[in-house]
Amino acid sequence: MGRLVMKFGGTSVADIARIEAAAEKVVAEIARGHQVAVVVSAMAGVTNSLIGYCRDVSPLHDAREYDAVVSSGENVTSGLMALALQKRGVQARSWQGWQVPIKCTDMHGKARIVTIDATAMAERLDSGEVAVLAGFQGVTSRNRITTLGRGGSDTTAVALAAALGADRCDIYTDVSGVFTTDPRIVPQARKLDRISYEEMLEMASLGAKVLQTRSVEMAMKQNVPVQVLSSMEDPIGSTFPGTLVTKEEDILEQEIVNGITYSKDEAKITLRGVPDVPGVAARIFGPLADAAINVDMIVQNISDDRKTTDITFTVTATDLHRALEALRKCEDLKDTKIIADEDVVKVSIVGIGMRSHAGVASTMFRALSEKGINIEVISTSEIKISVLLLKEYTELAVRTLHIAYGLEKKAEIA
Ligand code: ASP
Ligand code: MG
Repeated sequence: MGRLVMKFGGTSVADIARIEAAAEKVVAEIARGHQVAVVVSAMAGVTNSLIGYCRDVSPLHDAREYDAVVSSGENVTSGLMALALQKRGVQARSWQGWQVPIKCTDMHGKARIVTIDATAMAERLDSGEVAVLAGFQGVTSRNRITTLGRGGSDTTAVALAAALGADRCDIYTDVSGVFTTDPRIVPQARKLDRISYEEMLEMASLGAKVLQTRSVEMAMKQNVPVQVLSSMEDPIGSTFPGTLVTKEEDILEQEIVNGITYSKDEAKITLRGVPDVPGVAARIFGPLADAAINVDMIVQNISDDRKTTDITFTVTATDLHRALEALRKCEDLKDTKIIADEDVVKVSIVGIGMRSHAGVASTMFRALSEKGINIEVISTSEIKISVLLLKEYTELAVRTLHIAYGLEKKAEIA
């Protein structure tokens, strides 16, 4: 017997039949003796419609009212889920973020959770009641409703699990777990039984969209075991059918590479003829940071003439225009040619075992070169290697690397 948080995403509560099916899973966990807090997303498509309504009224809407509108989708689902549970003889009530309360920063539309006082909710759980919390939302210190950014219900769920001291947070979704790569590209992709927080964090931020990146950061910091599993299949979380995101020490078989991800939301900017003087990089990248634009891969070439050099870096495609605007204002770049290219994809390999194995990068480069794929930019961290390629090579590169690292079958331990 323990405490569980069960989170159901949009497709898992898409209609009344799905809400009823989710309620059945809650009932099954209660039958195993667990105390349960449920976190729900808006029904599939609802958040998008609500955002559309705001835009229709005014493209430059007040962010506080936007939050008041878009947070409402989750309110509907939480009430419906409580009703579905009550119908099954379960004592249940809905909670909105402000009722807990979940206190957030006042960055409307992408707020962060500051504190959760789960005392009242915990007392009710102890008395046998199921709590059904509306995900994605909280309240600012000025008492306004705010939201946590797209996919934010994942973060609500992990934060609630931490606040309640839950044993696990199960994230029910429309896929059966975290895969070695996108099964739409590689049908032989394998579901991972376990993955470390560090790897999941890299995978989430590198394009695997299964969990909101911030929820993984929080799970790692608060040490909350998170399971990603399908709500469309029969098994419930306590039988561990999904992928458990957990501490590195809890993973016995450490693969060298565990996942291949890709992100097409990338743009490459090349600056030709940048003055080769101290401080210029700071003056170029400073304004980008001030504009909250995330710069990812960076290469600076050795200058031929010792007067000028070339710098290439990537930003997300959505930030490209703002980045170009900031660069054009930069004094140092008045004689520099600025070239933007959106026809790129970032393909990455991720694996904790990379820390202790040599030759991981060369396998990647050789495999790609054998297929005639040109690498434009490379960047690495301790547990990942990313390469920037022409977009048309996405599928070929992902398939090639998936084979190169033997991911389609369970790697044998020597
Ligand atoms: N409903 C919100 C969204 O679509 C939050 C979530 O589902 O996680 O982004
Ligand atoms: Mg989601």
